[in-house]
Amino acid sequence: MHWYFGEPLKNRTGKLSQHRMKPTRYIRILIFDVDGVLIDVRETFWRSAVQTVRHLSGRKVTFRELQQWKSRPGYNDDWQMTADWVTQLGRPTTYEEARAAFNQFYWGTKDRPGNVRKEKWNVSAKQISRWAGSYELNIFTGRNRREFDYTFAGWPARRHLRTVITMDDVERKKPFPDGLLKILGKRDPAGALYVGDNVDDAMAAQAAGVPFFAILPRSAFRYRERAERFRSLGALKILERTAGLSRWLPGR
Ligand SMILES: [Mg+2]
Repeated sequence: MHWYFGEPLKNRTGKLSQHRMKPTRYIRILIFDVDGVLIDVRETFWRSAVQTVRHLSGRKVTFRELQQWKSRPGYNDDWQMTADWVTQLGRPTTYEEARAAFNQFYWGTKDRPGNVRKEKWNVSAKQISRWAGSYELNIFTGRNRREFDYTFAGWPARRHLRTVITMDDVERKKPFPDGLLKILGKRDPAGALYVGDNVDDAMAAQAAGVPFFAILPRSAFRYRERAERFRSLGALKILERTAGLSRWLPGR
């Protein structure tokens, strides 16, 4: 897989450095996942998931356990993850039940504000505008339309996004590559780059033949194991922060 790479970079001793590969001018299309990439989800989706499991199971589950669940394929979808998690804790729970409970924590109720209000951005609108100067920008997210619109409707960089694919726009969710293929149409997948933070993102990219960068902070639970998993799924780079992407994008 070296068609989208430029010349290997050599270090001072003339040997190939560890980070010897650099994406080249061939990449023209950037596709972002939203949660964990553009948006920090710890106080919103993650907290809602933990609260949902506690509420339905009566058990005191932790963020550590959540990360373990998140690292399994198919659990980019929080409703599916919480349904299976609560079921495993001994209370059989359907997808619909988990979704209803989750939404009360995420969106809030009449008497209690939802976690959605604690949403934080990982990337500035200014940075997105800079990238938009050289790349076509798109989104493929596991969010539904409502969750997407709530956050992005008033966002100044919204106009830079060409195609936005939410879970409501595809038959098959991640890890299936449908959303990526829809964004690309007939264009060469090698000219695109998908930036995600979940194993489902990496699998979708691999299935679509789209180069993939993973966002995984060093402080993440089981960093090494997860980094290894991303690499085995073909991740070209593992980045600490989304803004670090600029380093690998020529001219930005
Ligand atoms: Mg994500």
